Amino acid sequence: MRPINTEEIAQVTGGKVLYNQKPTKVKSVCINSREAKEGALFVAIKGSRVDGHDYILDAIKRGAVAVLVEKEVEPVGDAVLILVKDNYAALQALTRYYRKKLEIPIIALTGSSGKTTTKDIIYSVLRQKYKVHRTMGNQNNDLGVPLTIFGIEEDTEIAVVEMGMDHLGEISHLVHMAYPDISIITNIGVTHMENLKSQENIFKAKCEIFETLTKDQMAIVNGDDPYLSTVKGEQFNVVQIGLNKKDFPLFAHDIKSNSSGLEFTVCYNGECKKIQFKFPGIHNVYNCLFGIYLGLHFNLTFDEIQKGLMEYFPSNNRMDIRNIKGVKIINDSYNANPDAMKAALGVLMDFKKDKGRAFAVIGDMFEIGEESRTYHLEIGSFIAKSNKVDYLVAVGCLAKDYYNGALKNGMDPDFVYYFENKAQAAQFLQKNIKSEDVLLLKGSRGMFMEEILETLERSS
Ligand code: ATP
Ligand code: MG
Repeated sequence: MRPINTEEIAQVTGGKVLYNQKPTKVKSVCINSREAKEGALFVAIKGSRVDGHDYILDAIKRGAVAVLVEKEVEPVGDAVLILVKDNYAALQALTRYYRKKLEIPIIALTGSSGKTTTKDIIYSVLRQKYKVHRTMGNQNNDLGVPLTIFGIEEDTEIAVVEMGMDHLGEISHLVHMAYPDISIITNIGVTHMENLKSQENIFKAKCEIFETLTKDQMAIVNGDDPYLSTVKGEQFNVVQIGLNKKDFPLFAHDIKSNSSGLEFTVCYNGECKKIQFKFPGIHNVYNCLFGIYLGLHFNLTFDEIQKGLMEYFPSNNRMDIRNIKGVKIINDSYNANPDAMKAALGVLMDFKKDKGRAFAVIGDMFEIGEESRTYHLEIGSFIAKSNKVDYLVAVGCLAKDYYNGALKNGMDPDFVYYFENKAQAAQFLQKNIKSEDVLLLKGSRGMFMEEILETLERSS
């Protein structure tokens, strides 16, 4: 980060320097004392389980030179203690101030699914030509976004910032720190329905990402999404990307998705190119299109873009493909919602070989609201109607409705199984899978479906 003086920090946050320590420059910002480096500003956040104020000494021992506090604390050596009313508000004000000093483009992205994947694809592409900073992992909330922005270095040329939300107003809060130049929405699904109640509200909440955009700035959306296709930009430019639509500035067609990955043709202003990507699934075509559009926007050649796409590697438990004694396991257990589930089932179907059988080993989907049962039944019905999944192995509690949905829609009961827990499911799989089979492991994060993979690996 570019150093900031503690006097500036006090001024920007409306804080009061508690003792008369000498002003100093901070060179990084952290909220976890264990991550405090030499010259850090430690923000003592009071969370639901731990209070950062209990870790001030630890942060200072590790090198913090200044601390933002919400209550008066004893002086600790030379550390500059700045008292503010609310640490969240102070962090927001300081982030906004820091962002305004930066003269680099920030790309922000949100959506119901595919944020992290798209963010990492954009990073892999743009880094072929620029020094790019990106959100680490999934740090996409009101603490993760400021930390991402403070991670922008003197020589960073572009930053890619993931934004998540589970209620109205949250993305608004985030864009008023990041002030993106380009805002992306990947899609509108049905995540976090508990708070948001309807897809219209989800759409509205996601659109807050456009709030700060001005006339020379740009929104990029999935134009095939029924909600996003209605985004109109009077205040800013809107670019739609999608499949087969010749009136979109960038579109993909001629798509082949199989166990060796994706191949598709992309067209931009009348110029068409074949693109390859190591990971399958139509959903990944959309994720790649955002990366390709931005590559072209920032003047990369198609060859550079292709090289960047090939260098993309997914983070933990996303489309991680393993081979155990000839059985292919698609470990996509990072998370699930109805759209993501269908996307991953599509990949399972693409992977199925003539000789082998396809097993959908799927766990509960959480946080999808009052219609949760309907969504689970629908996935069961989707599997039954596809005729391309040989075995359904439903695991958990809500998952009983995958089972019910599949049976109701004519799937042969000999091929539909329900287990209350993962140990039982793993035992069933150990007995029944054989070489050439392909398995999809997916469920919400709280289901930890990857533990089935661990059991199968241990016993192989
Ligand atoms: P989170 O809300 O947890 O941050 P995310 O939006 O960052 O999730 P990813 O981590 O990129 O999403 O992907 C999660 C899962 O969503 C993947 O494992 C995949 O099954 C599915 N997925 C990825 N991209 C898409 C997409 N464009 N459309 C639908 N599903 C997708
Ligand atoms: Mg994410």
